[in-house]
Amino acid sequence: MDYPRDTEAGIVVNRRKFLGLISAVSLMSPSWLLAAPLSGVSHCQVTHQGGLTRLVLDLAGTVDYQLFTLTGPDRVVIDLHGVAAHLPAGALNFAGTPVRGLRSGPTKTGMRLVLDMHQPAHAVAHLVHLPGGHQRLVVELPVGKAAAMLARHAPKVRPAIIAIDAGHGGKDPGAVGGGKHYEKTVVLGIASALYQQLGRDPRFHPTMSRDSDFFVPLHQRVLLAHQRRADMLVSIHADAAPSRSARGASVYVLSPHGATSAMARYIAESENSSDAYAGVFDKTLSNDDPMVSKVLVDMSMNATIASSLDLGRTVLGHFKQVTRLHQRRVEQAGFAVLKSPDIPSILVEHGFMSNPYDCGRLIQHTHQVELAQALHASIGDYFRKYPVHVA
Ligand SMILES: [Zn+2]
Repeated sequence: MDYPRDTEAGIVVNRRKFLGLISAVSLMSPSWLLAAPLSGVSHCQVTHQGGLTRLVLDLAGTVDYQLFTLTGPDRVVIDLHGVAAHLPAGALNFAGTPVRGLRSGPTKTGMRLVLDMHQPAHAVAHLVHLPGGHQRLVVELPVGKAAAMLARHAPKVRPAIIAIDAGHGGKDPGAVGGGKHYEKTVVLGIASALYQQLGRDPRFHPTMSRDSDFFVPLHQRVLLAHQRRADMLVSIHADAAPSRSARGASVYVLSPHGATSAMARYIAESENSSDAYAGVFDKTLSNDDPMVSKVLVDMSMNATIASSLDLGRTVLGHFKQVTRLHQRRVEQAGFAVLKSPDIPSILVEHGFMSNPYDCGRLIQHTHQVELAQALHASIGDYFRKYPVHVA
């Protein structure tokens, strides 16, 4: 197996190519050239008709992917995360297509496929959800008229702006574990890892409410997300409980009516007390704030909460692979930082600083990175379902 030689530094991401997510071209009846069973990839096919070459990968389970093009020499690169790196050499026949050959190799998170092209590549991809939780990745490589036609019909998708909110900071340490480990430090580690990962992903523009150890009042975190026109807000926390045995991660979204559990109320109250450190009382839900009062009776708030719940469930799905869950369902409570009327927002408690086992893991860089990867994958899933189109 020929391992791809592309180094990270050598990769120039072609955003426009990636962003041209399109629907399948149903007019063409493809003639299957080959079908080979693969480990991780259950089925792989190549077709070529009417100037359009399609590479179809059937995948067991749900995956995350990135696609980009490179020049000198011309290549199309597909990174599949969470897929076993196995693809039989020489299995696919690209005769008569703009593809010279296919290479594959393992990456840290799965497999990289590299299509070596005869000519500068146009490439678009989309995922189709199949029954049984399987997915089909369709990569389309149009040339000539087909390329022009696809470009005309492609909806204009733009990168999603992700507001990453590292909780607490500065004079507000947040939860304290073992007498010396601060939540503000742990969450900055996770937030920074997520910022770096999203920054390397052409689908996203990350922005942070704080990138070092300083205090940001809760209402200002919401304001920053709005000023930066965020499409999503992810607030990153680690919690504490009176019982040292409480452990595991939880995901919260806003409840306009009250907390779903006593624990949710307790956590929300302790997180909301953050602004007391700056002498700022959280006014975002008080009735003298005209914007928010109006919003609370606005249907859009319900839609935003529904979107946030969807995102929250996705996060729990990815989190259970890297950590224990404290709550198996998304909790709802009145967190001040989640009160954006129109930005899907979640607050993630990544574990308990008050639990010695959780705290020991949370302070580890490797665990912070894997938590960030789970968030990254979740955000990817969410925006695949709800892409952000240019207005
Ligand atoms: Zn916190």
